[in-house]
Amino acid sequence: MKAWRFYAFGDMRLDDIELAACPPDHVLVEPLVVQPSATEAQLAFGIPTLAYDHVKSKLETDAPLQLFGHEFCARIVEVGSAVTGYAPGDRVAARAKLPCGDCPMCHSQRSDDCRRGPIIGFQLPGCFAERALLPAIALVKVDDRISDSEAATLQSLSDSIAGVETAQIRPGDSVAVFGQGSMGIESMQAARACGAGQLITVDVRPEACEISLALGADQAINASEDDPVEAIRDLTGGEGADVVFECAGGSVKLGLAGDRALKQAMHAVRSGGKLVGISWFGGPLELDVDLMRERSLRYLFPDISSQAHLEYTVRLVASGRISMKPTIRHVLEGIDKVPEAFEITAHKAQYQAINPAQVVIAT
Ligand SMILES: [Zn+2]
Repeated sequence: MKAWRFYAFGDMRLDDIELAACPPDHVLVEPLVVQPSATEAQLAFGIPTLAYDHVKSKLETDAPLQLFGHEFCARIVEVGSAVTGYAPGDRVAARAKLPCGDCPMCHSQRSDDCRRGPIIGFQLPGCFAERALLPAIALVKVDDRISDSEAATLQSLSDSIAGVETAQIRPGDSVAVFGQGSMGIESMQAARACGAGQLITVDVRPEACEISLALGADQAINASEDDPVEAIRDLTGGEGADVVFECAGGSVKLGLAGDRALKQAMHAVRSGGKLVGISWFGGPLELDVDLMRERSLRYLFPDISSQAHLEYTVRLVASGRISMKPTIRHVLEGIDKVPEAFEITAHKAQYQAINPAQVVIAT
């Protein structure tokens, strides 16, 4: 089968490789649509972000490596002898981070907090290939009402659902979301589905503000025209929002906000409110902890998305309560287009992309 392999950062090649036999607890799938996550796209070019050191040392010792490809929709071709509940022909998506099954957390029914298990696309080969072998515990069935293209966004969206659960939004809470890239738009829609009251979004791109309003934001602030902190305070009676999601941070070179949006977010949340950190910054930051202490801010980071989050995500998209379609602007045809999808996704601002660029591998 054909599979993309990395020989070094920035050097990916479409190789012919042997397909292993299907283990008893795995399924063999044919990827239909796959997209690089923003993190994977940055790593592909050696841009420091989450897991950079891990990928760098693996490439130095083990290249060529099949890397990435955990955001996908695939069709099952074969099921392992111990797998129940799935059959050839089923469409599936998957969660990325899996429990190890054998640590104190897993043994005490807290496997959702296990950090020792494999991650699809890192320790396990992902779906930038004509076939993939996946552990059945990773999977969720895709509802017939969800297209292949939207299904490829389910994994990322389930991470945003986990973020909203971590924030413990109460019905009617005012919520502000800095950044209306894919995670920002997902977090905004997830917050609405989970009971948020007033929803305020912030971006510097007029088109992102428009999509945000079309998908349910009450107000979208263009931060290149207005001060978002002042605007959010004005819209919340001078207090600031109950919950603020920070989804804009990251490399300025890639069109992201550096740490500016995080600093603004700390002023846009009300005293005693919650700030949820979604962005990856690629290195340590300097933060005014005294300010956070003085304002009793809760700075939270999302839990790992679980099987329950993924199943709920399927329901939200199937029932139309969350729509990802308007954010999908680049759909490329054929496995040979994978490098182009990485290029667009790593430089979303330049290509006016919101969701990562997708590749249709099969139909
Ligand atoms: Zn474990």
